[in-house]
Amino acid sequence: MTDDAGSAGFDDWMDALEAGDPYYIECANGHGSLPPRRICPECGEQSLSEEPLPDTGTVETFSTVHVPTPAFQDDAPYVTAIVDFGPVRVTGRVLDVAPEEVEHSLTVSLTSTKSETTDDRLIAFEPV
Ligand SMILES: [Zn+2]
Repeated sequence: MTDDAGSAGFDDWMDALEAGDPYYIECANGHGSLPPRRICPECGEQSLSEEPLPDTGTVETFSTVHVPTPAFQDDAPYVTAIVDFGPVRVTGRVLDVAPEEVEHSLTVSLTSTKSETTDDRLIAFEPV
């Protein structure tokens, strides 16, 4: 067990992602989640460890956003997806593929991008 596991914030997690070292949080009972976590959201277990995230996942659901909130107005249209990485599901933006070509079970890897509107860092996926 690592005492600090799960205490890292979203920015720390994005740093790890950008460094090519994404991870997820696993509890002693094998439940996966994403940081920040102090306890397992599934079972309340407080013994958490950081585990390397699998290299690729598959698109579980997705939607194309044509009319975004003002925070993303310059980014539209874009595709957001929930990707199944096995132990965890990750929500992010799908890059480098036309909205009409995103499909269920598309294999993607995790990466990061920036909002064209706010310059904020975003979780993203690219086809492999
Ligand atoms: Zn758990």
